[in-house]
Amino acid sequence: MNKNKKETLIICPICQSRDIGILRQNLWFCRACFCELVEKSGKIVAFGIEQDGSLKKIEKSA
Ligand SMILES: [Zn+2]
Repeated sequence: MNKNKKETLIICPICQSRDIGILRQNLWFCRACFCELVEKSGKIVAFGIEQDGSLKKIEKSA
């Protein structure tokens, strides 16, 4: 009955894993390939974490 909570099913665009943890609103973390997922304009964009701690956008060609 209570539909206030909107559940978003996030699937990692890199490894297709559903083992996704939420960090904060519109920011998720893939436990399978250790990348961060950000929602931009309704699309999930993946960022890898470099060894120096910076984020690098991961492009995946379909
Ligand atoms: Zn992943």
